[in-house]
Amino acid sequence: MSYVEEVFEGLKKKHAHEPEFLEAAERVLETIAPAVEANEEKYRSTALLERLVEPERIITFRVPWTDDQGKHHVNLGYRVQFNSAIGPYKGGLRFHPSVNQSILKFLGFEQIFKNSLTGLPIGGGKGGSDFDPKGKSDAEVMRFCQSFMTELCKYIGADQDVPAGDIGVGGREVGYLYGQYKRIKNLYEGVLTGKGLSFGGSLARPEATGYGLVYITNEMVKAAGKDLKDKVVVISGSGNVAQYACQKAQQLGAKVVTVSDSNGYVYDPDGIKLDVVFDIKQVKRGRIKEYVDAVPTAKYVEGERPWSVKCDIALPCATQNEINGADAKTLLDNGCWCVAEGANMPSDADAIDAYQAAGILFMPAKAANAGGVAVSALEMSQNSERLSWTFEEVDGKLNDIMVNIYKKVAEAAKKYGTEGDFVTGANIAGFEKVAEAMSAQGLV
Ligand code: NDP
Repeated sequence: MSYVEEVFEGLKKKHAHEPEFLEAAERVLETIAPAVEANEEKYRSTALLERLVEPERIITFRVPWTDDQGKHHVNLGYRVQFNSAIGPYKGGLRFHPSVNQSILKFLGFEQIFKNSLTGLPIGGGKGGSDFDPKGKSDAEVMRFCQSFMTELCKYIGADQDVPAGDIGVGGREVGYLYGQYKRIKNLYEGVLTGKGLSFGGSLARPEATGYGLVYITNEMVKAAGKDLKDKVVVISGSGNVAQYACQKAQQLGAKVVTVSDSNGYVYDPDGIKLDVVFDIKQVKRGRIKEYVDAVPTAKYVEGERPWSVKCDIALPCATQNEINGADAKTLLDNGCWCVAEGANMPSDADAIDAYQAAGILFMPAKAANAGGVAVSALEMSQNSERLSWTFEEVDGKLNDIMVNIYKKVAEAAKKYGTEGDFVTGANIAGFEKVAEAMSAQGLV
């Protein structure tokens, strides 16, 4: 049995009840195998992989809060501090009923390599709660966030662990979380990113993940001798990532024809009107089906995802495992030749196998959506120097970072004999820097 296989077998025995984490770990370990084999003795003798797959620590806590009727509730809160070899833990907080330790470990593990790919000094972490902000009043969300931070603040800090938003945690939640941190710790420091502009947020942070996704897609498409102009793009989700992916794709001349939420998708053959989506999602906090009230020529399809719509490029931007093998086949049958992942792990293993067998362009999440955490790291830099950069400055750095990620990923794939396989390229390029730092720092 190879070293990689041995480590994965051990992991399966220890964490049999964590399917999402095991799936993520298996996929990474499989693809970094050639880079591990090249240094096997060194890594084995320092138990490097055994350390890489276990979080440095996991903090779990209860979050008691009171609803508007005075009823008391208790949710679970978590922070997975996975790896700090190259910088303070960095990764979002997710508030969603599906949140559990397995999902947060999968996300935290992926974050290590994603953060490494950005070239910035940030380690990997993730956290959140099984709290569902949907349908809650502002006051309820505030009380929940205050209670969550009352416990979390003991374990985070500007040089220690810097959380951000993720599903269910946007600007409103980050504001409440930051307010409570400052109140308890009496510190005005960059402990969270994705903050409002009036209290240390960075211009272009809301846009960063979606824009970054389109920048790297553009780079990959250009390298294949094509361009985005007039290409038909299918997007899932209508949250933060989806909205700004749609905006940048449109700015580069593509035609985005779908957006969705967990109830269904909207198909607008004339191109999605983003002002309508912004109004529904950012102002009214409504459902995507309301789109057809404003644009009657569009169609709303209840209970389905948009993968049966004919397109050149698919940008899944909603959630994990939203494209299975059958969906991938439908996309391919309809002529889709490029998939880039805005969400984390939206394509399941069968879907990725299908893309790779068909030889289409495929950029996995940890490279494709790294723009969000990259601009979060730029927000940390601005907070440390107590300066604010212009939108153009941040956006320009984001573009450079995404272009560099593309280069690193493409080069690593080529170096290990798998040219064009950006899954392998991203995992190896992310892994090599972390492995070097972990080796240099000894058995910790
Ligand atoms: P938002 O909460 O802003 O939006 C999420 C969108 O996905 C909503 O439209 C939501 O619909 C939909 N969605 C959520 N769960 C499901 C589901 N089970 N089935 C179908 N649709 C679903 O989140 P973000 O846009 O911030 O995040 C989207 C993805 O991008 C996540 O995977 C996240 O981890 C990833 N990501 C986000 C980053 C960021 O900077 N925000 C950075 C890197 C990755 P509904 O409203 O009905 O729930």
